[in-house]
Parts: sequence; C-alpha cells; structure tokens
Amino acid sequence: MKPAAKYLLGLDIQELTKLVENYGQKPYRARQLYEAIYKQRIASLDELTVFPKELREKFEQEGYTVTGAKVDQRFVSRDGTIRYLIGFPDGQSVETVWMPDGDDGEAGDGTEAGEEETAPTRFRRATICVSSQVGCAVNCKFCMTALLGLKRNLAAGEIVGQITTVLNDHNVDIAKERVNIVFMGQGEPFNNYDNFIKAVRLLVQGVRIGESRMTVSTSGIVPRIADLSKEEIRPKLALSLNASNDAERTKLIPINKKWDINALVEAAKAFPLRRRENITFEYVLLEGENDSLENAKEVIDIVKSMGKPPDRVKLNLIAWNSGPEIPFHTPSDTRVHAFQNAIRAAGIPAYIRRPRGRDIYAACGQLKKIVSIQPAAV
Ligand code: SAH
Ligand code: SF4
Repeated sequence: MKPAAKYLLGLDIQELTKLVENYGQKPYRARQLYEAIYKQRIASLDELTVFPKELREKFEQEGYTVTGAKVDQRFVSRDGTIRYLIGFPDGQSVETVWMPDGDDGEAGDGTEAGEEETAPTRFRRATICVSSQVGCAVNCKFCMTALLGLKRNLAAGEIVGQITTVLNDHNVDIAKERVNIVFMGQGEPFNNYDNFIKAVRLLVQGVRIGESRMTVSTSGIVPRIADLSKEEIRPKLALSLNASNDAERTKLIPINKKWDINALVEAAKAFPLRRRENITFEYVLLEGENDSLENAKEVIDIVKSMGKPPDRVKLNLIAWNSGPEIPFHTPSDTRVHAFQNAIRAAGIPAYIRRPRGRDIYAACGQLKKIVSIQPAAV
C-alpha cells in the first residue's frame, strides 16, 4: 500500500533536521532541503538534485512530496489580476490573488521606495493576497467569504504553498523583483494564529520575502494584536474598522460585541511601530450605511484618539465590492471622494483602494470560490 502523503513545505529548519536525522543524515542535508523548498521553490522531489538519488527515492517511497497545493483553476481579469483556485488533497480549496502592480490600497506604506530598482518590463511590483483559512467564521455582513462558513484552518505549509505556487507561475525572482504579500484572502488570520505566524517566518527566512513587504489584516481579534507585537518576525498590521461607532460595527462585524472599537483602538495604541512603519485602518464604504460625512467625523475622532503622529496611522478606504446574496450598495465615486476629502482635511492620510479583479470575483471580500463567472459590475 502507498504510504500517506507527507508534505515538506511547512516544516521549519528544526523539523527538517529531525526528519533527515531519522534517515541517518547529517544536519547539512536539512539546510539543503530548506533552501530547495523555500528559496529555490522546487515543485517536486525530482528537482532536489543536491540529494543523492537513493536518498531522494527513499523520501518518495515514504510518501514525501513538496506540497499538496495545486492550481485547480485560474481566472484572469481584464485588469491583469489573476484569481487562483488552489486545491488541497482533502478536496478543500482556497483562493489566492495575484495583482501585478500592487493594489494601490497599499500606497503610502513606504513600499514604493526604491521602485526604480525593479524589472520594468514585467511588473513594477506585484501583490499576492493569500488565504489563511478555508472560509471564515467571523461572519461579517458585507463579505462573501462569510457565506462559506469556516471549513477548516490552513496549515502553515498550505499558506506558504499558495505563495510559492503563484510565484512559480510567474517565474518570480525574489532577489530582483518586488512582491508584497497581504494576508487578506479567505479567513481571519488571527483565528489561525500559530499557522499564520509560522508561515510568515518561513516566508521571511526561507522564501526571502521581507517582513516589511507583508501586511496582515484582522477583523479585530484583539488579544492576538498583543501577541503579534511580541513577534520578532512579523508583518505590518491592518485593522478592519469598517464602522464609525459600536452600534454600526456590531451590526456589521458580530465580534465587535466581544471586542469593541475602544478595545481595538487601545490594542492598536499599544502596538509598537518600527522605524518607518505605520498602522492601517481599513474602512469598507457601504452606501447609506457607514459612508456619510457624519460617519467620517466619527472616524476622524477614532483615529485621533490613537494619539499617533499623522504619518503613523492611515486609512484605506474600500468601496464595497458587490456580490450576489449581499444586500448592500457600492457608493458612487463622488461619495467615496467626499469621504476621503473629509478625512484628509483633518490631516489623516486616506487612500482609496483600487478594486482589482472585480470582473472575476477577485476583489476584497469577493472570495467565495465562484467558478461560473457571470458578467459582474466592474
Ligand atoms: N479577514 C480579514 C482579512 C480579509 S478581508 C479581515 O476581515 O480583516 C480584507 C479586507 O476586505 C478587510 O478589511 C475587509 O473588511 C474587507 N472586505 C470584506 N468584504 C468586502 C467587500 N465585499 N468589499 C470590500 N471590502 C471588503
Ligand atoms: Fe472573515 Fe474578513 Fe470576511 Fe470578516 S471580512 S468574514 S473576518 S474574511
């Protein structure tokens, strides 16, 4: 009988060392494996040419493969965004989104510095949006992923595997090309904290993507904000505010009952920022719901209550991306700009996140594994 599949991606250097020692090998073999799976991003053991053939075959016989992640489907948007449906051997799948030239919502986060060093012919900088869970349990009323419910957590190797698969699909040279990672796909990363942070470490130390190029977004799982602040290796933090008062936020994001705006702001205040780092509040604009100038005033008060210098806290505005079965409306550009101007007039940096891949259900909050694409509003 064939042994059960075992995956190398997701193992850290200590775990790989134990593994090779079980085969009577010296620790340097673990380092070779680590470099091969994370830095070179090999897709199969056949590419592990630094290993003697017999050793490679022994691994294969025992059921080891690099990753279980594979591209089930690809949807290409007219704006160049690609939504990948990435499947795992248990039949579950998630979405991972490739956005050439970023998503603009990350503007002002300092990642533009040194742009001229990038390869100009392919993309200036690309952003990969990665999933941390299959579905999500938080149940935000404006989000299509919520409709899936939570199916399961992703293992660290499944998070990393989404990224290596997409990087390989584009032959990305991490040493030369700029890639940002946003943990903003399916799922609430802080409800799968250990696997999420292990994936971050493997991406930074193994795949060699700088931590300053990574951002994690949370709906507001407050205790994990303090946990993140203690990590030696960590991404930047974005917080989904999405409402300007508790009554509205509780309606939109049920966990606000447990951790309200004040708790979120206190945790954000206590979050130590690194040099040149800022913290982002995300705000999904829902027409007639949270997008009035009164709402903008309340948002200004919330941001000001942080007591941080203006270059340290910014607001990312996201006009709601529509989806079937969700009873909200997307505000007009005029309303979005009026909201942005009100915030900016108070001296707070506010950016509008350009929607990417709306026509293929790849934009924020649209990840619900839609495979039959109806012509959607763009
Ligand atoms: N679960 C995490 C990260 C994924 S969602 C979180 O909620 O923060 C990334 C961002 O997209 C969040 O700020 C979320 O509020 C926003 N979002 C969710 N659904 C959306 C939709 N339909 N249109 C626009 N933004 C949406
Ligand atoms: Fe989950 Fe984020 Fe969607 Fe809320 S917005 S349901 S936390 S993925």
